[in-house]
Amino acid sequence: MKFGGTSMAGTERIRRVAGIVRAQAAKDSEVAVVVSAMAGETDRLVNFCREANALYDPAEYDVVVASGEQVTSGLLALTLQSLGCKARSWLGWQVPVATESAHGKARIAAITADAMIARLEAGEIAVVPGFQGLSEEGRVTTLGRGGSDTSAVAVAAAIDATRCDIYTDVDGVYTTDPRIVAKARKLKAVTYEEMLELASVGAKVLQTRSVGLAMKAGVRLQVLSSFVGEDAVAADDLPGTLIVSDQEMDELVKGGEMERQHVTGIAHDKNEAKIILTRVPDKPGAVADIFAPLADASINVDMIIQNVGRDKGETDVTFTVPQADLARAQALLEDRRGEIGFNRIITDSQIAKISVVGVGMKSHAGVASTMFRSLSDRGINIQAISTSEIKISVMIDEDETELAVRVLHTAYGLDAED
Ligand code: ADP
Ligand code: ASP
Ligand code: MG
Repeated sequence: MKFGGTSMAGTERIRRVAGIVRAQAAKDSEVAVVVSAMAGETDRLVNFCREANALYDPAEYDVVVASGEQVTSGLLALTLQSLGCKARSWLGWQVPVATESAHGKARIAAITADAMIARLEAGEIAVVPGFQGLSEEGRVTTLGRGGSDTSAVAVAAAIDATRCDIYTDVDGVYTTDPRIVAKARKLKAVTYEEMLELASVGAKVLQTRSVGLAMKAGVRLQVLSSFVGEDAVAADDLPGTLIVSDQEMDELVKGGEMERQHVTGIAHDKNEAKIILTRVPDKPGAVADIFAPLADASINVDMIIQNVGRDKGETDVTFTVPQADLARAQALLEDRRGEIGFNRIITDSQIAKISVVGVGMKSHAGVASTMFRSLSDRGINIQAISTSEIKISVMIDEDETELAVRVLHTAYGLDAED
């Protein structure tokens, strides 16, 4: 069971979480719980690091930001004990959750859960702080924002759990963010492949890595709400959204429990920024000269367009990077202006990426044209396009994000009936 930040925000909410955990444990289940820091706490800790030292050492940053989860894991163990349950916390270094050393975005390498499993078998609930791990050098690491989802899936895999239930502040995965579109519909199930794509283009209900790991390790995942009353349906009755294999999805469709849509969901991402390099020489190697230094600096480039060559053998190159990396990317490129040979560098953070995702589009033509037509009907200009087999993304002005998501939700027939 994993509980997110809103579910853990304050002792009263933690008491409700403890109630849900106790109910599960009472059904003869061995239960491991992964918790997030209280909502807003990680942001607060990140700010402290910035104030202390703008060029902070990522290893010390991890020491600071990992602390939010230490607090909630201890508090949940205490609350469970107060309800008469046997429970203890297991910090990342105690389990241990071994990770790579890339501070601030470490990947989990292995979880050795033998000691924890022995205690689970003895009827003790394990409470594990999400987001944190231990590097080979013996230092505290964190897994990147939203990383408690990945901790939960990794723990589930390590203890061979029957299921990994991700409890959050919405009762499942919706066709789009229900906080933006009131007519968003809850999905009974979504495939790993679609969920992976949705998460990677901005549906932050699950961290992307957690879905990738669940798919690889075959962990059965359910997303459901922790904001439930006493008479709520138990998690084993699957009240939330299940993340399933293609085969399971086929069975649900055949059984009439799910409908096949061309588009399953829509996501948006306001955290990217656009960079345009003008008058880049139109010759072999030019693009490699731009992207190699960014890759070396671990800056992820997403959408890329190389415009039609101008006369004089020059071209403009446009691409996006995470907003958080914009200043770094700009500085790296400025340093290499001579080698790359561009004229101007233009940046813009006021952009958003809107993506439509669905395995149905593999076998159906016209999904892209519906997107372009619906947006143009509302006067929304598309600045860039990128696609994968099951996704189409467009870059638009940030101010038009909510409108675009709503328009597309209606255009693909995803609106819930009143
Ligand atoms: P937690 O703190 O529990 O990890 P998050 O804030 O990380 O919770 O994720 C839950 C949020 O994800 C919801 O409140 C919702 O606004 C957002 N969200 C974005 N896209 C979707 C979607 N397609 N379905 C459900 N929730 C979504
Ligand atoms: N507390 C961490 C964050 O806010 C991890 C998580 O909540 O998943 O990013
Ligand atoms: Mg989250």
